[in-house]
Amino acid sequence: MRPQSGSPGARTPQDDSLEGNLRNVLEGQSAIKASLVQREDDDAVQTDAPLIRLVNSLLSEAVRRNASDIHIEPLEGALRVRFRIDGVLQEVQQIPLQLAPAITSRLKIMAALDICEKRMPQDGSIKMRQQNLDADFRISTLPSVFGEKVVMRVMGGAGVGKEISKLGIPEAQLKLFCEAIHRPDGLVLVTGPTGSGKTTTLYAALSELNDSSTSVFTAEDPVEGTLPGVTQCQVNSGVGYTFASILRSLLRQDPDVILVGEIRDQETAEISIKAALTGHLVLSTLHTNSAVATISRLLNMGIAPYLISSAVTCVVAQRLVRKICPDCKKEDTISADMLATLGPQGELLRGKQLWRGQGCPACHNSGFKGRAPLYEVLLVSDELRQLILAGATQDELKRVARVQGMITLREAGLGLCAEGITTVQEVLGVTNEDTDTTKLDVAANVAASLNLQAAPAPKSDAPPLAQPAQVMEKAVDNEQLRSAVKRWKSQKTARMQVVQ
Ligand SMILES: [Zn+2]
Repeated sequence: MRPQSGSPGARTPQDDSLEGNLRNVLEGQSAIKASLVQREDDDAVQTDAPLIRLVNSLLSEAVRRNASDIHIEPLEGALRVRFRIDGVLQEVQQIPLQLAPAITSRLKIMAALDICEKRMPQDGSIKMRQQNLDADFRISTLPSVFGEKVVMRVMGGAGVGKEISKLGIPEAQLKLFCEAIHRPDGLVLVTGPTGSGKTTTLYAALSELNDSSTSVFTAEDPVEGTLPGVTQCQVNSGVGYTFASILRSLLRQDPDVILVGEIRDQETAEISIKAALTGHLVLSTLHTNSAVATISRLLNMGIAPYLISSAVTCVVAQRLVRKICPDCKKEDTISADMLATLGPQGELLRGKQLWRGQGCPACHNSGFKGRAPLYEVLLVSDELRQLILAGATQDELKRVARVQGMITLREAGLGLCAEGITTVQEVLGVTNEDTDTTKLDVAANVAASLNLQAAPAPKSDAPPLAQPAQVMEKAVDNEQLRSAVKRWKSQKTARMQVVQ
């Protein structure tokens, strides 16, 4: 039995777009109630019922446009549908408010949630396996004044299973990262805000390490995609299956490589570090602004400096910037003001052609299409280890890291601008100013590491490019290091209780 449309003559069965399906539903609203209760197993009805087709087309449209999240939110006069695409929310459709309960109920049925419970938030997941859509969604509902808001995260996506060499990490930085993940032990941390591509990087690292001779485990919340041959554990705090308890249990399962989804608390941090110090490679994420800030974050969690300095081998800070749409790319210039804002790092753009997207149908008038990652890779050298042990400040650590060749997020971003991949505004939006007013010799090294053509040298006595070792010898000020150690020792008690 198929539900009848109110005005069958007006239907356009070929039009399976979001708009077309919405039109069909509005034309045959009497059928909504009948169609709503049809279950997944009744294929013939499922594909024909207007409301089900509308909801399906909403999900497939989100996947087609590479959205990371779908927001379905009741406003005062309409149900607004927005997609987060390339990190930015965009409105895609307004649906008459009277359809809101039916759409919400349909999604709840798909996620096996309680359709009668409208006053409490609910969480669940939807698996779509149809001819033109194969995707998983994590769904959450939240009662609000105008009705229930539904937000869905599109899981997996393009990131899962990417090879590490295809992530877009510049070669010099990739070498450092690979060096760290190919060690048999140590803690490798990837940091950045939510949605900065940390999971993609870590999954790529796991894929690189995962083979029949390695035992790989993950503790995740949520598991974002399946990795063949890897034992993945989903955190379930409700029953006490937390990051810490999973870690404790899996350490008895003979692991070689462990991915801890996120280090949120001292307990998880301590177990991760102990695992890293006892012959396991541990990969994890933290929410910090920069690679160096991660060290301070661990200290603030109450981890002793000697544990951090001996366990942490590499910290990667990561961001995503939107890429200029290739279909509407147009030459652009940088204002003198903005160049001044960039300070010495503006040198990276000297003599470079900059670009922007004008907006076209291919990029839905945003001027951007897809995203590219920025990486700041800090390989913890012996010198940095000593500094961490001595309790050096974040600025001191950063200065030494930069002298040793670390490229900051801001510099990596400006490198992408110089290559015509993104815009300066985009980079400024996701990176912080590098507060130490680094001299031009570091900028020149950055240019070399990023494989940029050498910009016209501002001074005739500027140091030669691509010789970080020389510059390092010159720039490390041992006197300053010693004074940092001395200062820390005098302040030691004020800093925190170090459990030794
Ligand atoms: Zn475009």
